[in-house]
Amino acid sequence: MELNLKKHFSDLIFLPLGGANEIGMNLNVYHLDGKLLIVDCGVGFASDVPGIDMMTPDISFLKANKKNILGIIVTHIHEDHLGSIQYLWRDLEVPVYASNLAANFLRTKLEEFKLDKQVPIRLIDSSKDLQIGPFSIEFLGLTHSVPEMKALIIKTPKGNILHTGDWKFDPNPVIGEVSEKEKIREWGDQGKFLAVICDSTNAISEGHSRSEGDLHKSLKYLIEGRKGIVGVTTFASNIARIYTIASIAKEVGRKVVLAGFSLHRIYEVAKKSGYDFSGFDFISDREIKFHDKKDLLVICTGCQGEPNAAARKIATDHHPTIRFTIGDLMIFSSKIIPGNEKKIFSLFDAFAKKQIDVMTEKDHFVHVSGHPSQDELKEMYALARPKLAIPVHGEFLHTKAHAELARECGVPRTIQIENGLAVKLQEENFQSECGIVGMVKHGYFGVDGKQLLDLNGEVIRERRKLQSGGIVTISLALNDSLEMASRPRIQCIGSYDLKSDRDSEKFIQEEIQFFLKNKAKELGLNKVSKGLSFLKKTKKKKSSINAAEIEKSLRGKMLKIFEDLMGKRPALEVTVHLI
Ligand SMILES: [Zn+2]
Ligand SMILES: [Zn+2]
Repeated sequence: MELNLKKHFSDLIFLPLGGANEIGMNLNVYHLDGKLLIVDCGVGFASDVPGIDMMTPDISFLKANKKNILGIIVTHIHEDHLGSIQYLWRDLEVPVYASNLAANFLRTKLEEFKLDKQVPIRLIDSSKDLQIGPFSIEFLGLTHSVPEMKALIIKTPKGNILHTGDWKFDPNPVIGEVSEKEKIREWGDQGKFLAVICDSTNAISEGHSRSEGDLHKSLKYLIEGRKGIVGVTTFASNIARIYTIASIAKEVGRKVVLAGFSLHRIYEVAKKSGYDFSGFDFISDREIKFHDKKDLLVICTGCQGEPNAAARKIATDHHPTIRFTIGDLMIFSSKIIPGNEKKIFSLFDAFAKKQIDVMTEKDHFVHVSGHPSQDELKEMYALARPKLAIPVHGEFLHTKAHAELARECGVPRTIQIENGLAVKLQEENFQSECGIVGMVKHGYFGVDGKQLLDLNGEVIRERRKLQSGGIVTISLALNDSLEMASRPRIQCIGSYDLKSDRDSEKFIQEEIQFFLKNKAKELGLNKVSKGLSFLKKTKKKKSSINAAEIEKSLRGKMLKIFEDLMGKRPALEVTVHLI
């Protein structure tokens, strides 16, 4: 049932357009009194789509309601929360509200897209509420793997929502403030939360997430005493981890080299935003040659096995300045994200082949998650005591487990949401009033160079076909009697090696000849006599030649031949030029 916004004009509605069916690409919409507020606008990893690595949510619904959109609030710096803004902002043209750190990071990205002068960025001031249309927003600090993660308390006359963003309860986050649990407790004790809309990433993990502070000890133990160069690859955006690794390097007397564009960018953004890295000994990769290997620690990009990132270049000796050899160590201080296993394991292997030691989250304590495990979720529900739990930021496996856990914690109602589903939220008679009231168009767009492509659209369908069977193009120049002016031009691209199969090529040429002769006969175009009478006859018949029809029927014939040759169907195009 399509969402009827007019009918629900005065209702408070929550509508995720991304992030409710997957981990990544978060885009949440809140509606009240005809106005729309966007919370986060993230990007996701695309897998198995030819030529496309990143995807954004389909925002057709927002485009159709553009005039009523109040703004975009960004909870934190991660790409899955702000990484689509540069691609989608031109369709939205609204102010973006972000913390100082997220704002500085966003500006560097907008500069690349020549949008930095156009996008109005307003800094979040946590000391006071943000009044935006019918919504009043109070910001709440929660720990995560980056500082300045801002949860939202969305206050409305219909009820108050705690929108958590990404969080964990980390007593020692290394960088940034600890979670403001007391504020949640105050609200919870007064029964003021109608709903908690919450991170499900680790809802299937028992216990409590480990602290960034604990990780320091473990990584130091693994690095200390190593004789060769040590590399640590992690998510560039994980500022706390960069800080942890740099402080270990200092303690064990190693200089730090950053390798990879996105790490340099985040380092500059963090410094600009007031995070102090001045006590550490950073050197550029060009200075490596002046130092002994045992005095160096490289922090590099590419922990997900990305083909062009620094870790891959180092593993395959393609990095211009950094060389790892036998006995050196590479630590993967990161999660193996589902879907990326193949790329990551091939990278582990590339290091191992060179006799470089590899440590990963599978075998050593080298990574902590930035998301809440079950014990933290239980604590959150005990503090917030909402009437309703709506799990987001997860695949169905995670949101289902999260909903069950919320019920065990005594939350009276849970709603398992999906992208595109609109949920009405109302404090009064919440048991009967809250629920799904409709759906809107949703889906995925692939970032393809400068264009966004519908992942279910024609271009991608064609591209998949080309990927699977390549293409054959046949072009013919024909005169009025359907005779060929020259041999047909047959090109096989990524489909069949016709050059090495002269017999088949000859057969195809003959089949084309045969087809054209028959066609000419069918249309009565055969030359029967010479002289004026022939000219007259040809002129009369020319209009009966339908190039499109010839292309279509020859295409069908050629497809059969290539299908026989290849055992599968290539894409095939026939072009006829009448001369
Ligand atoms: Zn996230
Ligand atoms: Zn995050």
